[in-house]
Amino acid sequence: MKTVKLVSEVRAEICSMKKRGQRIGFVPTMGYLHEGHLSLVKRSVEECDATVVSIFVNPTQFGPAEDYSRYPRDSARDGELLRSRDTDLLFIPTVEEIYGEGFSTFVEVGGLSEKLEGSIRPGHFRGVCTVVCKLFNIVSPDKAYFGWKDAQQLIIIRKMSEELNIPVEIEGCPIFREADGLAASSRNVYIPREKRRYAVALYMGLSRIRDLLDNHGIRDAARLLKEGRKTVEEYPGVELQYLEIVDPDDLSTVKTIDGKVLVLGAIRISGVRLIDNMFAGDK
Ligand code: AMP
Repeated sequence: MKTVKLVSEVRAEICSMKKRGQRIGFVPTMGYLHEGHLSLVKRSVEECDATVVSIFVNPTQFGPAEDYSRYPRDSARDGELLRSRDTDLLFIPTVEEIYGEGFSTFVEVGGLSEKLEGSIRPGHFRGVCTVVCKLFNIVSPDKAYFGWKDAQQLIIIRKMSEELNIPVEIEGCPIFREADGLAASSRNVYIPREKRRYAVALYMGLSRIRDLLDNHGIRDAARLLKEGRKTVEEYPGVELQYLEIVDPDDLSTVKTIDGKVLVLGAIRISGVRLIDNMFAGDK
């Protein structure tokens, strides 16, 4: 595995890969890797000839009061993990390399970016789309792998790539969960040990909704959400930020469920913000 910091170095490596006729898989990340990230790398290694991973904690997707400077980082450990999982190229740019002085071009997917996460984190998806679009232009992958863990992000990136005619296939990968159901996340390290068992609150709330819908035939979203909220509230010290049932195509709110829906939510526990989601209604 080669590790590079400069856009010009990535371009040179990609050029050689393409000359060899290799199909390139790309996994963009913010590092502090866990098995969720590595499941994306595994898919890429299986499906493509060469796998490129980027690690970049992207300042433009963090709000001024958010955890950009506190976001966990350990590129030495990340590098070892990626090497052991057959990554070919690791790109770790500096902020200056990605956002040169006077940088002023942004990519925004209207509508979808203002809902759910976007309503709580204004400008978040503008930052995500801008950096992902830049990374796609730098790496020019055939396929790019994203986790359903960040369902809204995946849906927005798909729309951006289609509407901007970026020649990349976007692959969605299932959520990797810990043994108790908590979705793996780089931020999980900040959950205090004594609170860790309450961090499953959102997973439990989502599971309750899926069970009532798929196994008990309750189709009224308001009733399902009430039950889901009740479950989350059983866990001490957990603040529910939102819980919604939406159409996975356009993230529009669903009132009565008669097909596949996406149930998603966000909680805060000891100042750590966690998101999760689940598909339901497809039984
Ligand atoms: P991040 O480093 O949080 O920006 O995540 C990089 C990629 O890994 C994104 O496509 C995430 O959706 C994906 N990812 C993060 N956590 C998980 C997980 N638990 N399971 C599957 N994919 C994940």
